Amino acid sequence: MHLQKKTIRDVDWAGRKALLRVDFNVPLANGQVSDDTRIRAALPTLRYLLEQGAALILMSHLGRPKGKVDPALSLAPIATRLAQLLGKPVIMAPDCIGPAVQQLAENLRPGEVLLLENTRFHPGEKKNDPAFAKALADLAGPNGIFVNDAFGSAHRAHASTVGVAKFLPAVSGFLMEKELTYLGNALEAPEHPFIAIMGGAKVSDKVPVIRSLLNKADRVLIGGGMANTFFKAQGYAVGKSLVEDDVLDVAKSLLATFGDRLQLPIDVVVADGFKPDAVHKIVALTDVPDGWMILDIGPATVAAFKEILSTAKTIIWNGPMGVFEFPIFAQGTFAIAQALANLPDAVTIIGGGDSAAAVRQAGMTDKMSHVSTGGGASLEFLEGKTLPGVAALADK
Ligand code: ADP
Ligand code: MG
Repeated sequence: MHLQKKTIRDVDWAGRKALLRVDFNVPLANGQVSDDTRIRAALPTLRYLLEQGAALILMSHLGRPKGKVDPALSLAPIATRLAQLLGKPVIMAPDCIGPAVQQLAENLRPGEVLLLENTRFHPGEKKNDPAFAKALADLAGPNGIFVNDAFGSAHRAHASTVGVAKFLPAVSGFLMEKELTYLGNALEAPEHPFIAIMGGAKVSDKVPVIRSLLNKADRVLIGGGMANTFFKAQGYAVGKSLVEDDVLDVAKSLLATFGDRLQLPIDVVVADGFKPDAVHKIVALTDVPDGWMILDIGPATVAAFKEILSTAKTIIWNGPMGVFEFPIFAQGTFAIAQALANLPDAVTIIGGGDSAAAVRQAGMTDKMSHVSTGGGASLEFLEGKTLPGVAALADK
């Protein structure tokens, strides 16, 4: 079902305006874009539309300005960076709606690019206010089309992701299409063996995803901080490790129901404190010292996980295996990234903001089939939820 959405290939663009929702929610430092990954990810869609003779009106949110103008969250630095990447001028609008912006949009010619100011400067964005959505949609003129390429915002029913689709035909851009193809295929028609790897800090956040994947995957490998709650549920002493006692019962029931599919670490790296220079050692699960904390998976676990992964045809990975932000606890995460990179015949999909960052730090991004640009959106998708921004797109 996810694969049957209309895309920008299904539209004749000559003489049309595209109202294009992108995810330009990028990090800024000293008034400049400090990481342009998300801008680059939108370029194939932008270039295609420009080649096809469309005029582009781009909209995005940036940060959390709470419905008010906050000059520190202006998209102006993004216009500068985008112009460099596209090699053509990008007109920066003073707002995202209103008479001045309407005039800029009306004057826009084929091949020209207008970037609207932060949609979250208006309270109507998050409220999905129909009047605000209509004012955005009107910018595209009578034969305009809404294009959504912001998968990372598709789990939110806002004016620029859902509301505008009430007033304009809605199709997906290439980035959205790629996300839906990889994540959708993995959930609906994965090639088996299908192995999921789950990690990260909190289990409670991810219980629905673990449950969903346990129902679809052949094996689910658990690492990272979330494994601790399962260890405790099994009766192991975990010292001062991060544990969520309120989901101990959930962990017990998942172990009881899916025990043969769940694979937990067999050894771990423990440390005497949560710090980059902590005293640390590798121990078996039975030997976690009192007062110490588990901060990474151990080498025997890496070997066991690699063995299981070596047969996989489809792999989804969400959540780092350890506190990868500290180099001494990054080895488990980097080893798993390397293991996936060494499986050229498997479809390898990375979901989650920190997981994507870890894979990038490991230098393995290009070796993966797909690194999702959506953190919260990819998790909700993997839970099996319908994302409102996807539902709003026209079916093929
Ligand atoms: P993602 O963003 O990919 O979904 P999460 O946000 O769930 O991932 O988890 C990432 C965080 O989990 C990282 O900041 C990492 O330091 C932390 N983490 C991983 N393993 C542990 C651990 N054993 N103890 C504490 N924190 C951990
Ligand atoms: Mg995260």
